[in-house]
Amino acid sequence: MNLASQIKAAAWRENLGGYRDRPKPDGAREGAFDQLDVDGPDEDPVKTLEEILGSAVPEHLAAELHAAHDGLADARTRAARRNRHFAALAARAGAGTLAELIAACSHDAHTATRLLETLATEGHQLHPCARTRLGWDRHDRERYDLEATRPVRVRLIADRAGILERSGDDFRDHPMLHGLDLPDPVLPVHPWQLEHRILPGYRELFDSGKLRVMDETVPAWPTAAIRTLAGHDHPGFLKLALGIHITSTRRDISPATALLGPRLSGLLGFLHRVDEDEQASRHRIIHDTAGAWLPGSRELTALGRMPLPASTGTVCVPATALTATSPVTGMSLAAEYAQWSGDPEAWIRRYALLFARPVLHLAAKGIGLEAHLQNSLVAMRGPDPVYPITRDFGGARIHLPTLPWRLELPEGSPVNAHGIDQVRSKVAYTLFQNHFAALVAVLERDLGLDGAAFWADLADHVAALTSPADRDYYLAPRQPTKALLTMRLHPGEEIETLVDNPLAKPRKPILDHPALDEAVKALPSPSSAWIYDPAAFTARLAGLREALAGHTVLYAMKACANPAILAAAAQHADGIECASLGELTAARAAGAARLAFSGPAKSTADFAAAAAIDLPLTVHAESARELRGLADAGYAGPVALRVNRGRALPGTHQMTGAPTPFGIDEDQVFPAVNLAQRLGLQVTGFHLHAVSNCLDAAAYAAHVRESIAWAHTAARSRFDLRYVNVGGGLGADPRGDAIDLRALAEGLRGIDTGGAELVFEPGRYLAAPAGWYVAEVVDVKTVRGQVFALVRGGTHHFRLPAAWGYSHPFTVAPGPRREKVWADVDVRVCGELCTPRDVLNGGQRVAALAVGDRLVFANAGAYGWEISHDRFLGHAGPEQVVIG
Ligand SMILES: *Cc1c(COP(=O)(O)O)cnc(C)c1O
Repeated sequence: MNLASQIKAAAWRENLGGYRDRPKPDGAREGAFDQLDVDGPDEDPVKTLEEILGSAVPEHLAAELHAAHDGLADARTRAARRNRHFAALAARAGAGTLAELIAACSHDAHTATRLLETLATEGHQLHPCARTRLGWDRHDRERYDLEATRPVRVRLIADRAGILERSGDDFRDHPMLHGLDLPDPVLPVHPWQLEHRILPGYRELFDSGKLRVMDETVPAWPTAAIRTLAGHDHPGFLKLALGIHITSTRRDISPATALLGPRLSGLLGFLHRVDEDEQASRHRIIHDTAGAWLPGSRELTALGRMPLPASTGTVCVPATALTATSPVTGMSLAAEYAQWSGDPEAWIRRYALLFARPVLHLAAKGIGLEAHLQNSLVAMRGPDPVYPITRDFGGARIHLPTLPWRLELPEGSPVNAHGIDQVRSKVAYTLFQNHFAALVAVLERDLGLDGAAFWADLADHVAALTSPADRDYYLAPRQPTKALLTMRLHPGEEIETLVDNPLAKPRKPILDHPALDEAVKALPSPSSAWIYDPAAFTARLAGLREALAGHTVLYAMKACANPAILAAAAQHADGIECASLGELTAARAAGAARLAFSGPAKSTADFAAAAAIDLPLTVHAESARELRGLADAGYAGPVALRVNRGRALPGTHQMTGAPTPFGIDEDQVFPAVNLAQRLGLQVTGFHLHAVSNCLDAAAYAAHVRESIAWAHTAARSRFDLRYVNVGGGLGADPRGDAIDLRALAEGLRGIDTGGAELVFEPGRYLAAPAGWYVAEVVDVKTVRGQVFALVRGGTHHFRLPAAWGYSHPFTVAPGPRREKVWADVDVRVCGELCTPRDVLNGGQRVAALAVGDRLVFANAGAYGWEISHDRFLGHAGPEQVVIG
């Protein structure tokens, strides 16, 4: 973005002069945290800001903005030269991307990192004054700025009278000063600083011989932080007081910072060593090893920093370079890596977790690292981020009461946080808003990454990695951000503004059902439970009735016989289809107005009950024996003959079109009708239930039409056809798919039943979405490389996945999580039975999982509990809960 665009973006974020109430600037794309990517003309930045404010820009800020504008223009020209150099290097190495070129340079990782530092031409992506260099002229910029073509010669001041104070090691032990002949302690200083600030300002110290400027120099290169320089001959870094104004302030170093650097490094190193969290310990910090200062001076101050960690085959890539544009491909370096990895979504998630884990972990201990792009590096092996690196603790925030150790902070040190929220806000601003948001923005732009999905996933991880109080802060709907531009209008004040937090966006859909969410939370621990929502059943029935255009619907109660579901069916369906004496009794008790009685092996008692019942009933006779039995019992109601006819329908369970125990063969229909009539039974039609879980609406509609036509032919001149029951079988797959009602309605449109009642007997379709199985995780472990979650309950409470041999999808409802949280794993969910078949899900990827979490299996209401064998092993049964 050019400077005018950056000003618009900052004004938008900070709602400067009510800018947010106006239309969004032209060519603006909104990203996370109210960050805009504006593609506007490169206007005079001061004029742009004046237009936004409706008033004059104060003189100091006008100067800063003009300096930033000129600095950026200059930098771009020089960066273009360097880019051609990079492109040529890549061509020579046969690398198609900068990322591949970097990977090929791991034998000289130090130089590779140093060159990559120079890619951050635009500097801090949220600060309009990122390229402000007040104090430098063009010549100075050429010699000392990021795009310098020769190393800066760092000067050394010898402390001949011992007037400098020190923290940590002697500078003479710093690797960058190796090989120099230095009899006295020294302080490294920036050559510009020496010439313009130190020699003029501290004349008498040099005149009196207390300090002496040495002839030796240390060649070094500016990093993105400008006053931190990387060694040319030897690896390592020097952070120097520079005395010019960059972004928002004059860049000196306070004695407090020089004192604290080595102390804090020591503390962090110690914390890392004792830390049991294996993930956090992979985090590397670049220690400040030496600090020196002249008491009371912010100018005669310096810090020495260790070299970057080196491991074979890796290169430390500054995070600023990841968001920069690669001179080889024209997309961001991050996009090159993400694409190279083969799975950009997974790449950025892995990268983010690498940083989020240790940074959030330290924040919980009271240490808020300044984890923004400029202070972060990542060790890359090929396209893979291997470990995160943090440098520079001057901007950290430490909350002493939370810290597990005693630490003394110098009086008035800005590092001292007044409350833990300052630590959290430092992390939220630097890690999420600056670091991750910038990476996500370039990946959205270059690769079309789904940013919302990234933030939702990260929110799950943040929730899993933090305490409830931290979680509330990081996942709040709004998050404070630094009002960088507003602060330049009011220098010296710390001003924050609130921005929308993408981490707060709602996540997984299933537990959106508020009553379900509460019911899951309210279960006693450890829980195995069935939760039913009769309203979900009723809503589903209403939709189906509409699609079936007024034809009769009997609920096949064997799919789910929970009393609340049965009561809903009795009230809203035309009747209930039963397949046993027990079901007849339950349906009657539930208040059904009408019944049908099926089942392939009816007994004398069944016939007697059918004869005795005081409700409208149709019996579905399955054989000649059943006709005789009904007549013997004195049954006088309507009878429909069940026939196995036609071809098999697509579905999971074929009842017809194949040899099955159901009904009679087509060629037995005439003798059966004759027999029934001889016995004095009242034959009214046929029962042609054919299949279960048919997801093909067109095939189902064809089954209905063919059944009606066949029934008319079969009844012709024998009896008056009044009843055609096409059975159930409307598909609702436990993995979520369901038959398309619109297509079904379309297929049945204008159907002519020739005066007969057309009857449907759905079970699964109505009950499936009305029930959830919930099982609590009681153990998580790895066996032979597979992660297992063991739950209370299992397939003896929810047999369907085992019966069908599929993995039933689940949602994790986080519990109290007092034990280890397993992040981003493929988990196999097994129950409490002593059989390897007790598997509810053979492998599902979860963002986070821990003992105490509850796994919620949706779309489980049909044939879930009803077919289960809960007596096996004698465990306690599942809880039964009704919601709504
Ligand atoms: C099981 C059954 C049904 C219901 O089948 P779904 O696939 O659950 O719709 C209907 N009628 C008869 C005779 C059944 O046996």
